[in-house]
Parts: sequence; C-alpha cells; structure tokens
Amino acid sequence: MHGGVAYPSGRFLRSGEVPGVERDEQRDDAGSVERVSFPDDEQVFPWLSMLLDAYRITDEGVAEGVRREEAQGRRLACHKGCAACCRTHSTIPVYPLELVGVSWYATEKIGGVARVQLKRQLRDYEEDRPCPFLIDGACSVYPVRPMACRQFNVFDQVCAGGEDPYYTRREDVLTPIREYADQAFYTMLPFYGIEDPLERARTVEAGAVHKLAGMLQTCNWKTLAEKMDEYDQVQSDTRADDSAEA
Ligand code: SF4
Ligand code: SF4
Repeated sequence: MHGGVAYPSGRFLRSGEVPGVERDEQRDDAGSVERVSFPDDEQVFPWLSMLLDAYRITDEGVAEGVRREEAQGRRLACHKGCAACCRTHSTIPVYPLELVGVSWYATEKIGGVARVQLKRQLRDYEEDRPCPFLIDGACSVYPVRPMACRQFNVFDQVCAGGEDPYYTRREDVLTPIREYADQAFYTMLPFYGIEDPLERARTVEAGAVHKLAGMLQTCNWKTLAEKMDEYDQVQSDTRADDSAEA
C-alpha cells in the first residue's frame, strides 16, 4: 500500500489469462474475481471502464498471489474491519487516473453521514496524516481504492498498531505478480494519451508509467472537499428548480 510496493515489468497477459497456467487449462472467468461495474456512469465516462478493467486485473493478480501463498501453507491475515495499515502508511502511490476515480466516487457516490464526515476529513486533511478516506475503520472509496491499497496484503499475523510490515517483516507482505500489475498499467495507459499497443508495452516495460505516480498523502484534498460542495450545491439548485416547476 505504500512506496515500497514493486511494480516489475514483464510479459503481457491475454485477457483472462492466469500466469503460470497454460491458456487451455484456465477457467474462462479467470477466477472468482468480479469486476466492479457502474454501467450508467461508464456510458458517460469512458475512463471509468478503463479504470475498472485495470482494477479487475489487479484484483485477479492479488487473488492469484494469495492462492499461491496459501498453497504454501500461509494464511492471509487481512480481513474485513482491519485497517491499521490505512492509518500507518504514509507513502501510498496513486496514479492520475486513480485520483480521477476516487474523486468521482467521493463526489457522486458517497452520501449521508459518511459524506459529511468525508468532506470534513478532506477539508481538515494535512500531509502525512492517516488516509482521509478512512471512515469508522472502513475505506469509504473501497470499490475504487488505488492499486497499491488493493495489492497490500499481509500473511500469518495481523499488523500491530503502528506497524508497517513492509519494513518489519517484508517476507509476510504479498509481492504483486508482475504480469498482472503490468497488464493493469497497460490497460490504463490510453488515459494518458498512449494508445498504440507497442508504445504501451514499451512504456510499462521501461517502468516509465511510474513517473506518473504521486502520493496519496501529499494530494491537496481540500480541493476535493470544495468540488463535493459544488456538486451538492448544483444538486440542491436542481431540486429547487424541479419543485418550483411542479
Ligand atoms: S493485516 Fe495489516 S495489511 Fe492486512 S488489513 Fe490488517 S492492518 Fe492492513
Ligand atoms: S484509500 Fe481506502 S484502502 Fe487505501 S489507505 Fe485509504 S482508506 Fe485505506
């Protein structure tokens, strides 16, 4: 979930392919990972499909990585409700398309009490604090959380408060499978204007894609709070206009 996550380069997967398994031995659905979908929004925002496709590939890679570790007798320590890592890690890489996704989701999909709290956390956010999207011990942007968050998984022992296992016990931290990570980045590159397949492959293989990454903790989240306020104002004005016409 932080800067220490390696995104090595490698060959590219065909759609649905599981590394290390011959194509004809693989299941058509490439495992049990379901792609998050927002069909109506994806009609409006082509970048969203690209992002969700990349996240599905990422999640498939994580599931496969966990399966391989479990086959060695290891046990995944991460579980629902466990979020010490979201408080501890101070260098979570995030890419521009991911920031667009998180901002969209926060602005258009989070409502109610969580929205009020999130806006407050974003407004009050200061660099190097715990992730502003953590609300009541859960990720408020879970369906579109960044790749680094999706990939950060720990085995055998739940993290102690304040522990960053990447440094205390690196051997317990899942290493992302290179083919999946590369394929996810490859899928996102058209968002950055790199559409040619060969150029996309070269960009990923050269690691140039990582120059695009920023840090979640150093983003100016106050601007997202302002954007959410503007969105709320537009929604409120629209409702007022509608009831005036009725
Ligand atoms: S075990 Fe560690 S890495 Fe996994 S969810 Fe809990 S705090 Fe996060
Ligand atoms: S985006 Fe979500 S998963 Fe990632 S650090 Fe923040 S709260 Fe945790």
